Amino acid sequence: LQQEVREVTELEPVTEDGHAIELLMNAGLVAEFDQSMKHGSSGIGLYRTEIAFMERTSFPSEQEQVSAYQNVLASFPGQTVVMRTLDIGGDKTLEYFPINEANPFLGWRGIRVTLDHPEIFLVQVRAMIRANIGQENLQILLPMITSLQEVDEALRLIEQAFLEIAQEQSVDIQKPQVGVMIEVPSLIFQISQLAERVDFFSVGSNDLTQYLLAVDRNNERVASLYDAYHPAVLRALNFIAKQSGEKNMSLSLCGELAAEPGGAILLLAMGYDKLSMNSFNIPRIKWVIRHISLQHARQMLETCLQLDTADAVHQYINRQLEQLG
Ligand code: PEP
Ligand code: MG
Repeated sequence: LQQEVREVTELEPVTEDGHAIELLMNAGLVAEFDQSMKHGSSGIGLYRTEIAFMERTSFPSEQEQVSAYQNVLASFPGQTVVMRTLDIGGDKTLEYFPINEANPFLGWRGIRVTLDHPEIFLVQVRAMIRANIGQENLQILLPMITSLQEVDEALRLIEQAFLEIAQEQSVDIQKPQVGVMIEVPSLIFQISQLAERVDFFSVGSNDLTQYLLAVDRNNERVASLYDAYHPAVLRALNFIAKQSGEKNMSLSLCGELAAEPGGAILLLAMGYDKLSMNSFNIPRIKWVIRHISLQHARQMLETCLQLDTADAVHQYINRQLEQLG
């Protein structure tokens, strides 16, 4: 089986009955990628820019960011690279930008920080747009969005950065697509309004699970309560897919759930177009997708959506996976 999983790397992620899905990689620290690091992914579905910021002792300059982002974009010519704007706060802090709060996951985090510091946001977005010149494969992703005002404000700043750079450059530049992360539960009920503003959605199931279940994702004591297979989380993910589908929005999921065979099957059945994960998991998920039909995946989803507890979902999925091999 191991051998079979390795051999699948070069094949397409298509179900037995011909339904295709895109598999992308999550990345963060590495700025240059060779073929062996891609494990058959078709681009980057989530580039966590804050990781490189965390490795430093001061904010990187615009030019430093341009160089780093250029390397990433150039490693995936013609393939999508989704770069997320700085998502600090929560569990990710910078020693040169301390944030001390009693409740960091409910506090000053992600877009909340960068909208309060537009100078940080503008430098980063300018660097992304400059790095994209001649590449044209950049998409920008906004983390921790809760309300539409935040989206409007971020889009206004991105537009400002774009216009500045368009003026500075002698060549025509392309406007990158912009998407939001669906990871704060309030967005579940604002999908149609969001769809009118942005180009794509990417579900952050790690945070969505944490916030839906009110369970700190890093607290050992309540770790057993943190479960993306909780029926409420699955129903939320399904609802998001339905609502996005009605608006014809491109929908991806970039949390840990995408890298689990059971999770990938359920997300495929819900209608997610793209799954983004640690690249070493891609061959395994590709194998699973190639060994199941969309019809079977949909039956599994139907069953899971009826079950009462996360335990029951796990038991059912494990039985099904054993049958798949
Ligand atoms: C998520 O929340 O699911 C996600 C992908 O982002 P992060 O893990 O960086 O918060
Ligand atoms: Mg998140």
